[in-house]
Amino acid sequence: MALELVAEESINRLKTDMLEYIQSGAAESSSPQEILTWGLEKFGDKIALSCSFGAPEGLVLLDMMHRIDPTARVFVLDTGRLPQATYDLIDRVRDRYDKTVEVIFPAAERVQSMVSENGLNLFYESVEKRELCCRIRKVEPLNRFLSGLDAWVTGLRRDQSGARQKTPKLEIDRAHGGIAKLNPIADWSREQVLDYVKEHAVPINRLHAEGYPSVGCDPCSRAIGPGDDLRSGRWWWEESDLKECGIHLEEKGSGI
Ligand code: SF4
Repeated sequence: MALELVAEESINRLKTDMLEYIQSGAAESSSPQEILTWGLEKFGDKIALSCSFGAPEGLVLLDMMHRIDPTARVFVLDTGRLPQATYDLIDRVRDRYDKTVEVIFPAAERVQSMVSENGLNLFYESVEKRELCCRIRKVEPLNRFLSGLDAWVTGLRRDQSGARQKTPKLEIDRAHGGIAKLNPIADWSREQVLDYVKEHAVPINRLHAEGYPSVGCDPCSRAIGPGDDLRSGRWWWEESDLKECGIHLEEKGSGI
């Protein structure tokens, strides 16, 4: 049998297994570790964790995955506008876990022509220009990287924002070619995440201690006050509850 046919058959078998796992409801009643173990066994080196190094969720998953399989893959999208604290954390994690972190960059020529035409701080001018910047610096590099995978893992949680309320623990990611998308802590609260961090001494971004619940690009993240919505420090000049960068938005094919 031709290699392509063998590969296609095994992909179809993976999709059937995945659909059975989803339809049985097993994924929804499984612990994060059980879902990660399932994913790592099923997809091997074709599954990777997307970690922004700007939220404790990704680091919790990195710690869990590393305990299950120290060779588990992790990647970060380096937009070129991340704060120094995030770069420092990436190196801390490399040392602590003795782990390669795959750093994914945007296409230089796309960034160059965008900033030449629109300026370096275009994102403050309109939602459209902000989305253009997120598309070129995050969505396109993510799409390119995911095209080489069969599955990815995210730290999405349902109570992070209105747009994330229906996040399943396991889904078929149609916006990225039908690969598997594992969201193992979708039903966790922020308290559960922080408890795990404390219990396992997981390294997290130092900006959290300065009032940043989530840290994205430096010009697009700021500290929030007591009682503020947790996502309100991201793109704070925009109004919508549906603020996303596009990475997790199925319709646009592209929202971290
Ligand atoms: S978060 Fe801000 S700087 Fe980063 S890619 Fe989006 S618009 Fe650009």
